[in-house]
Amino acid sequence: MSGRTNRTKIVCTIGPSCEKEATLKAMMRAGMDVARLNFSHGTHVGHSRLLRNVRRASDSVHKFVTVIGDLQGPKIRLGELPSEGIVLKNGETQIFSTAIDLYKNLKIPVTYKKLHKDVKIGQRFLIDDGLIEMKITKVVGQDIHAEVTNGGIVTSHKGMNFPDSKLSVSSLTKKDKEDVAFAVQIGVEWIALSFVKSSGDVRSLKQLIKKFVQAGQVAPRVLVKIEKHEAIEAFDEILNEADGVMIARGDLGIEIPAEEVPIRQKELIEKCRVSGKPVIVATQMLDSMIRNPSPTRAEVSDVANAVFDHTDAVMLSGESATGKFPIQAVKTMSKIVQEAEVSRFDDVVFDPPAVKDLIGSVAQAVKLATTQQTIDGIIVSIELANWSESVNRFHAEIPLFIACSNPKLARQTALRWGSEPFVLKNVKEKTFVSRALRVLQDLKKIRKGMRLAVVLGGRHGEAFDVVTV
Ligand code: PGA
Ligand code: MN
Repeated sequence: MSGRTNRTKIVCTIGPSCEKEATLKAMMRAGMDVARLNFSHGTHVGHSRLLRNVRRASDSVHKFVTVIGDLQGPKIRLGELPSEGIVLKNGETQIFSTAIDLYKNLKIPVTYKKLHKDVKIGQRFLIDDGLIEMKITKVVGQDIHAEVTNGGIVTSHKGMNFPDSKLSVSSLTKKDKEDVAFAVQIGVEWIALSFVKSSGDVRSLKQLIKKFVQAGQVAPRVLVKIEKHEAIEAFDEILNEADGVMIARGDLGIEIPAEEVPIRQKELIEKCRVSGKPVIVATQMLDSMIRNPSPTRAEVSDVANAVFDHTDAVMLSGESATGKFPIQAVKTMSKIVQEAEVSRFDDVVFDPPAVKDLIGSVAQAVKLATTQQTIDGIIVSIELANWSESVNRFHAEIPLFIACSNPKLARQTALRWGSEPFVLKNVKEKTFVSRALRVLQDLKKIRKGMRLAVVLGGRHGEAFDVVTV
């Protein structure tokens, strides 16, 4: 189908491979909707420059591109090791110490200084994306003795995961707090909270954001990255506090058995959709495209299946940030998404579990009208009532035009499945329909003769009107 834009959004992590304005423009034209600034790498000066380039590129291609500032979080890492690394042999015992920063007396340094208090004998931990596995045999003072159960070579700063332990580390580090202040100041639309463990973590971040937001500024919304076993257990309460979710399969697949990830992916997406909150499926989606101009068949299937699971967005990480083929990766992802969406497998069919209230019933009635092919688009206003979330739950396969009073809100909304935000200032119920139609016509998003469902809500009653342009 020509002229059809993808409903499932594409998130691209920004890094050295795509930081130029021209590259970003090409990626946006190819289907990029969201830019992720990864605060695990780079400096504030560098990220300001990336943001400026993203804004310039999105202005010139006339697209509302959302920016996510992704906090590093308390990723626990090895400290400084000799440059040749350390060989860990199966069956051998190694000592990991929280008392040192550099490799010394055959002890391997660990960055989290209270780790020895949180781990217990018999628990496992993993190093370097799960490649190396250790089992704790003894804790003596600040030294953690562990047996190598799956060996290999480790080098400086490799990440560690603790699938069996409950760590007391706060999900907002000192660096994260500085990054939150910075992210609010430069005006990102979303802030992603890494390694969230509880709803309390989300509340802490929200409070922090509030502290930095200026009067009249639209506060960044909070995206929780589900990548710890604790977050799976506490997901319902975390979702309640969050504004959106990222299924961060990279770390999650180490924290829980990898074979459970596809099942959790389906469960989490379903819960997000019922709650009306956007969800991103992330990590390794087209991993081989970091090196190759085309993906593996299994990767193609993974992206398509995320669409069939009804995710709001799919994400590129290294593929766009550091890979050799960033533009090609977006084009590839976009093609897979489009093909999957045209099929019947992504359709959200009659869906009573998602209807819990009057708004839900009306939203479902709108959805029903769209399936009868009597309307060509839906118009909602986020100012008049929070209809976009309700209507969004049902994934109507026609454009969902969301009126927002300023570009910042429009960008914030662009992360949602199928959303086509537009700016309409000083919205009033009486004049909303005529003004919205005029703006959408000027933008060439609608044409004469089209029939549109307008959902107003509020004092207008819990219903929708159908208008003909
Ligand atoms: P990261 O998060 O890329 O910041 O590690 C995503 C993931 O863990 O999947
Ligand atoms: Mn992660």
